[in-house]
Amino acid sequence: MSDVYDVIVIGAGPAGYPAAIRAGQNKLKVACVDEWQNTDGSYAFGGTCLNAGCIPSKALLESSELFQRAKDEFAVHGIKIGALTLDLAAMQKRRASVVKTMTNGINALFKANGVVGIQGHGRLLPGNKVLVKGTAGEKTLEAKHVILASGSTPIRLRSVPHDGKYIVDSWNALEFDAVPARLGVIGAGVIGLELGSVWRRLGSEVVVLEALEQFLPMVDQTIAKEAQRHFKKQGLDIKLGAKVASAAVSGDAVDVVYTDSTGEHSLQVDKLVVAVGRRPFTEGLLADGTGVQLDERGFVKVDEHCRTSAPNVWAVGDVVRGPMLAHKGKEEGVMVADLIAGHYGEVNYKVIPSVIYTQPEIAWVGQTEEQVKASGRPYKTGTFPFAASGRARAMEAGAGMAKIVSAKDDDEVLGVHVIGPMAGELISEAVLAMEYSASTEDIQRTIHAHPTLSEAIHEAALAVDKKAIDALNR
Ligand code: FAD
Ligand code: AMP
Repeated sequence: MSDVYDVIVIGAGPAGYPAAIRAGQNKLKVACVDEWQNTDGSYAFGGTCLNAGCIPSKALLESSELFQRAKDEFAVHGIKIGALTLDLAAMQKRRASVVKTMTNGINALFKANGVVGIQGHGRLLPGNKVLVKGTAGEKTLEAKHVILASGSTPIRLRSVPHDGKYIVDSWNALEFDAVPARLGVIGAGVIGLELGSVWRRLGSEVVVLEALEQFLPMVDQTIAKEAQRHFKKQGLDIKLGAKVASAAVSGDAVDVVYTDSTGEHSLQVDKLVVAVGRRPFTEGLLADGTGVQLDERGFVKVDEHCRTSAPNVWAVGDVVRGPMLAHKGKEEGVMVADLIAGHYGEVNYKVIPSVIYTQPEIAWVGQTEEQVKASGRPYKTGTFPFAASGRARAMEAGAGMAKIVSAKDDDEVLGVHVIGPMAGELISEAVLAMEYSASTEDIQRTIHAHPTLSEAIHEAALAVDKKAIDALNR
């Protein structure tokens, strides 16, 4: 095989590997270079998402939820199971095996789509060359197009020195081999809440320290308030307006100092997870003279079609602007691979769903009520509580609601917000509706099977016009 390719992708996370696969489907000669190594030193495709993010976190969220439901909910169903014990080693083994199955799947997909997968570090050189330092030594490859998909890495706080054992990042926190009695989490964002939930369900006392006064500012505040109430009931101690000043390991524990409106406080925990966000990862990616520009926050600068400032160099996923979400990166990767092949490609950045996989689950798409209000566009809202859903009640999952925000003038759906069972699945209907610029009337006139959770979306749409059947109109 010669070393000249149509496309070289650097990074095989959920932005890079779909770009490579689509390029293969488009009959382009493509290689994908990735340097990810797991804690045992083994290389694996899939990036953060498959190895240390979306997939392992969802595996543990599922296991820990089952544990918590067995403990607190089974008796309500009339199921008695006696003493419940936790086998964390088995739970972690399952998590690792789910990850392995998924990352191995990428090898198979690469093979099936003619993608040359290369394990090693890739560095873009001027003139669309890529220097690869891999297990098989060093080699310079050439390509007509290069796609940068190098992803992101956790932000570290200087005053909270990471040691990987007591003061840890999200990856370490997915691989704990014992349940910490006292767990501190810095940051009440999506990752902090998901990890806090996992370990709380398995028995940790969890304190989440969040610098902002407002809880989940990016979420519709009706939903955020409902979430806050449930998390409190679950025993997650979320302290808002609590800015961590420093932390230090002391013996087998971590001493944390934080400040809030009442002054300085200290807290001792057994493990401290720093979950204060992620930053674009470009270390060692760009040689001098490539012409690829970064913005002031370190993201690779791109236009709306993910073209960088250098000819035939593209960038997708967490390393470019926009929400740091796997599905956003995937769509960008596919778009770029299609554009390179001369096909149509577009990403609708206005309709990207977000999900927080807590219990209850939270999902949304489009604008929050607060954003629509601030825009000045007249609007109407409708909500439907899961307490009035027969299916949710049957599932013992009546907490939460679905909410729709629509334009008053032409009835267009502007935002859909769900907190409740399977919210992340339910939101897909709303995403499709918004992709088609649906009105609430379109959803109202769409038949939803009974009894299903999706009826909550239907009823929320009806509630927008005060026509809900199964609940009081709100
Ligand atoms: P990455 O997944 O970071 O992949 C980049 C890859 O490029 C890595 O394998 C890296 O090793 C490799 N690389 C970097 N530089 C080079 C180089 N020079 N040479 C070779 N290889 C290189 N998102 C969701 O949508 N849903 C979720 O439920 C979700 N849960 C998450 C949970 C956690 C705990 C975390 C940390 C993240 C989660 N995310 C979730 C975010 C999601 O993981 C990221 O948005 C996604 O992984 C970004 O994809 P990417 O391909 O841009 O980058
Ligand atoms: P996200 O960016 O969604 O992952 O969330 C990270 C959260 O961490 C944000 O809500 C930040 O406000 C919060 N955060 C950042 N630095 C600190 C700090 N020093 N102390 C407490 N919270 C912080």
